[in-house]
Amino acid sequence: MTKRDYYEVLEVSRNSSDADLKKAFRKLARKNHPDKNPDDAEAENRFKEIQEAYAVLSNPQQRRSYDTFGHESPGGNPFGSGGFQGVNISMDDLFSGGFDSVFSQFFGSGGTSGRRSSRGNDVLIRHSIDMEMAMLGGENELEAKLLVICDTCNGRAAASPEGVKTCGTCSGQGQVTQNRKIGPFIQQMVTDCPECNGTGRIITDPCSDCRGQGRERKKQTIRFGIPAGISDGTRMRMGGRGEPIRGGGGSPGDLYIQVHIEDHDWYERDGSDLLMALPLGYPELLLGTSISLPHIDGKDISIDVPAGSIPGDTLEVKGRGFPRARGRGRGNVTVLLKLYVPSKLSKNVKKQIEGLRDEIGIDLDSIEDLVRKEAKSRRRIR
Ligand SMILES: [Zn+2]
Ligand SMILES: [Zn+2]
Repeated sequence: MTKRDYYEVLEVSRNSSDADLKKAFRKLARKNHPDKNPDDAEAENRFKEIQEAYAVLSNPQQRRSYDTFGHESPGGNPFGSGGFQGVNISMDDLFSGGFDSVFSQFFGSGGTSGRRSSRGNDVLIRHSIDMEMAMLGGENELEAKLLVICDTCNGRAAASPEGVKTCGTCSGQGQVTQNRKIGPFIQQMVTDCPECNGTGRIITDPCSDCRGQGRERKKQTIRFGIPAGISDGTRMRMGGRGEPIRGGGGSPGDLYIQVHIEDHDWYERDGSDLLMALPLGYPELLLGTSISLPHIDGKDISIDVPAGSIPGDTLEVKGRGFPRARGRGRGNVTVLLKLYVPSKLSKNVKKQIEGLRDEIGIDLDSIEDLVRKEAKSRRRIR
């Protein structure tokens, strides 16, 4: 079963506010609550699905990540390897709004592991390359304005080493633990430390260049290699080149470059093969010809059209497609023959063709036989 879109699950639009989300969650959670639907497995699943959607969308960082990556977050399942397990929320909590703190424990602070996440956000950049680069690979670069570690304080966020103190409230853990009674359950909740906003550090002497953020937005030139034969939509990861944590400390997230391959003027790609259509006049099809075209790999490609070719025939030029996986040579170029018909004929040409009709036209008396034969023909016609 495919996973449903979180916004769809909550029946809200993508730009709905936090208050809208909360309202939608409350309504749906009440409707599908196990207390109201005893022994209804379907409602139970829906209840879980609604919880998961709300857990992600009510967390600003998770919502951003979901809006960017959908269900395929580059960091893996946001709930850890086990996926979302569901939480116990009583009807009382749904009425009183007591469910807020149940959900705030999920991320904020490193998910279910209970350890503070000391990693910044991942960043995704989309990058276009032409078909030639996709086939041959090579060095590439792009420019982007990104959050990077502040040069002045080297990400410390304070002007001097003495300006960073360990937070006393959480002893530098960035998190505080609370026990909460939810219906019949006692739930131990770990939330971000309100004193240090989860960083575990108090900055008494903020760096003036980054105003105590430990990071700054800067134009960056990012260089990277494109492997030969790359597929459209491939995401390349650059570890540690994502966003540093706000407030300093920890390590930056990862940077992902998603490669988009631009359309070629005449080729279409099918895995390691290339497809193209070649328009030819009736004389070329009838008599055969050899066509030379510039090719993506830098060397001209020559296509030998045998005499007696028919529109719809395909020709194969072996070994001139994209590199195959694991070094198993290259794919092929498939050429589909088309008939080129001039839109206008001069009187003189028309006359010549009329003269040829008896020779190369069809015999209208035997049209039924021809149609029958055509139906039996093994030739592929597109
Ligand atoms: Zn700084
Ligand atoms: Zn703290």
